[in-house]
Amino acid sequence: MIIHFLCYQLIKLVTGSELIMYQNYTFSFHTYQNISLMGKSVILYRNYTYSRRGVSGKHQYCSRKSTMRCNAKVTLNDDGSIRAAHEIHNHPPPQLMKLKSGHYIKI
Ligand SMILES: [Zn+2]
Repeated sequence: MIIHFLCYQLIKLVTGSELIMYQNYTFSFHTYQNISLMGKSVILYRNYTYSRRGVSGKHQYCSRKSTMRCNAKVTLNDDGSIRAAHEIHNHPPPQLMKLKSGHYIKI
C-alpha cells in the first residue's frame, strides 16, 4: 500500500469541530464515535450509523443496508481512522437520542 503524505493544515472552528484545509479546500476531519445503539455497538459518523460486517471490522456498512438496501459504507484503516467513506444514503439520517446511561436509542 502506498501512503501519500499530503501537505494540509488542520484548522479548528469555534464550534469545536476540526476541518482539514488542503489546497484552499476544506474537508471535514474524518472522526466518528463508537456508540452503543439498542445494545449493539455501532459507529456514528456524520449523523449516520454504521455497523461492522465481516471479521476484520474494517468495513462498516450503513445500518439500513438490509432494510433500505442502502449502499453507504465506510472503510477504516488499521489504526481505526476512516480511510474512505461512500456516503450516498437513500434515506434521511436516523433520529437518535442519547440516554443518561450514555447509550443511544432510535426515536
Ligand atoms: Zn444509509
